[in-house]
Amino acid sequence: MTITVRFAPSPTGRIHIGNARTALFNWLFAMNNKGRYIQRFDDTDVARSTQEFADSILYDLHWLGIFPDVTEYQSRRVEIYDAAVERLKAARVLYACYETPEELDLRRKVRRTRGLPPVYGREALTLTPEQVAEYESDGRRPHWRFLLPNFTGDPLQPERTEVHWNDLVRGEETVDLASLSDPVLVREDGTYLYTLPSVVDDIDMSVTHVIRGDDHVTNTGVQIALFQALGAEPPVFGHHNLLTTVSGEGLSKRTGALSIESLREDGIEPMAVASLAVLVGTSENVTAAHDLNELAGHFDPAATSKSAAKFDPDELFVLNRTLMHQMPFEEARDRLIVLGISGDKAEPFWLAVRGNIDRLSDAVAWWRILSDGPQESAEFSGEDRNFLDQAFDLLPEEPWNGAVWKDWTGKIKEATGRKGKPLFMPLRLALTGRTSGPELSDLLPLMGREGTLARRP
Ligand code: GLU
Repeated sequence: MTITVRFAPSPTGRIHIGNARTALFNWLFAMNNKGRYIQRFDDTDVARSTQEFADSILYDLHWLGIFPDVTEYQSRRVEIYDAAVERLKAARVLYACYETPEELDLRRKVRRTRGLPPVYGREALTLTPEQVAEYESDGRRPHWRFLLPNFTGDPLQPERTEVHWNDLVRGEETVDLASLSDPVLVREDGTYLYTLPSVVDDIDMSVTHVIRGDDHVTNTGVQIALFQALGAEPPVFGHHNLLTTVSGEGLSKRTGALSIESLREDGIEPMAVASLAVLVGTSENVTAAHDLNELAGHFDPAATSKSAAKFDPDELFVLNRTLMHQMPFEEARDRLIVLGISGDKAEPFWLAVRGNIDRLSDAVAWWRILSDGPQESAEFSGEDRNFLDQAFDLLPEEPWNGAVWKDWTGKIKEATGRKGKPLFMPLRLALTGRTSGPELSDLLPLMGREGTLARRP
């Protein structure tokens, strides 16, 4: 059987690094098992879902290197859910309820004061046909609940009923169905909540592994019961820990915090995002993987911790720097062209500056410094000015070779007696306008003799 996974966000906002964790867990699992990856949009909430958000999610996933085998939209599959509803009704495990939210709230309070668990008491099962007719004539429409299989004879007497599964991430898991309310599957207006369409799709699309955040652990108990009610074998489940900020706050699609889009705009590389999103909160070290193949080699769902994965966005910059420092010119070339960095000098330029930049676009400032001269003019003391005059007079004639910097500074040292920082810092400042940066021995040949002399203060 082909391993089949799906990533199923609601298109109600831009995805963030926490959603990317779920998507990548699925994608890498499929990669490691030669499986299929379905991109499913859980867009039954038509008021909040938009095609623009779905498109933006696809764009962000492509940017990360995820290319789904198929893309599905739940809003286009309602007939299949309608058919499942008919089957559940026929099996008498879907029942109509007429309570308003206020009535339910009141009942919960009463149950609490009586020391009962605040779950739905299945009062709707005791409605007489006359009471139903009265609600209907008052204009009330029913919502529909799934009767959880947590009783032997009388549904009003639920008993402890354990659902077990061996979680890919968390190991043995148990949910007691008597501790839960019968879930509402269909709203009053006939629209679907997430629970049923997800199960119907997982069956219909032959999903073998459901990998998602651990906020769904309880749902899994309910959904396993639904798989069984629909006559299907439940898939394997895996629930990974969620990413939180250092202060422990969860991430939300709605706030846009740490969205993939904002990270991209900040110049973070996709592999920095992917490496952190996958490896944080696992027993693996968080290091920058060069591509998803390499990351897949480090990915093991069972190595994921059960507690929340706190992460510091600054780690992204650390990973980004590593990726920059190691990026071969062939990989950077096209992106540099877009930034206006091209020609014979592009390659030696890249090799000279990549060790000194946090993000690829930082190369532009260095390219400008090399082509147009320092962007900030430095102030020199009279002594340094004299020193620089002497130094520029000693600049070797062309042709230059790779040793030109060494030759030049050797001569300067001999003539002026300066060495170390008093020798190098005024030169660095005069040539680049900055107190730090790439090796001057690499930059000097790129400036050429004329370009270097033009920097004489
Ligand atoms: N739409 C659900 C969510 O975003 C999907 C959960 C699942 O993977 O089943 O949480």
